[in-house]
Amino acid sequence: MKQCINCMTRLPRKEVAEVAWCALCAPCQQVVADQMKLLHDRPGGAPVQIHQCGWCGVARSCGIGWRTRCLVCLDDRSVPDPAVQKIARGLELDGTWRENSEFIAATTVKIRLAKYFQPGWTVLATDVHGLPWTGFRWLTRSHGTWGRNDETGEVQQLKHSRGEANLLYLVRYGKVLKFGRGNTDRVGAHVAQGAVPVLVLSASSQEISVARDRLKRRHRSEMVSLRTPVDLFAVLPDGLDVTDQLPRN
Ligand SMILES: [Zn+2]
Ligand SMILES: [Zn+2]
Repeated sequence: MKQCINCMTRLPRKEVAEVAWCALCAPCQQVVADQMKLLHDRPGGAPVQIHQCGWCGVARSCGIGWRTRCLVCLDDRSVPDPAVQKIARGLELDGTWRENSEFIAATTVKIRLAKYFQPGWTVLATDVHGLPWTGFRWLTRSHGTWGRNDETGEVQQLKHSRGEANLLYLVRYGKVLKFGRGNTDRVGAHVAQGAVPVLVLSASSQEISVARDRLKRRHRSEMVSLRTPVDLFAVLPDGLDVTDQLPRN
């Protein structure tokens, strides 16, 4: 027996199909049959297809010929995942279970996309194992994050951008806060994804690294509720406030 990840019905193995890394029953496949539109088919010869959700507009990378669905949208057959509901309570989200799940998924995707930003490239889409159903505990399998070179049009799989991290930042994504370390490009990428800078401190990359680790131990997750007191100065007393020097949208 297999369980459909969307409606949790248990069915014989042959009655479920793999969609977006997970097992889905036929009625659940039917609900999203027209959801994804093929946006780029093997762009520049790259072994990837980029699909876009017709419901919310978020794109997803996918292997050639695989079945997929939106990273964010749930549907009328979806049932709540207790682990995601626990995350939503921790973040003090006040929506319905479905709104909260979709908000967590959408924010997770934005944060992921921001990590891959690099100058001269447009990030096209990513793929996060486990979304839209499960929360932070995805496995590492992914069809990759893909971007297009703004000058040459070349499409390739992007690596995490790893410029020197001289900033410790706290940004707000709608109903949640997210802290992290990075350079001006990283903070700018969060802003481009819709985040608002709350406080950005500059210091040596070593100090930033130590401070970020202390914050992570204190708060356990980089995404926390709006009411969580995230005190950057407590972990980086000599940090220089550069919040006003950042580019804004
Ligand atoms: Zn189902
Ligand atoms: Zn969607």
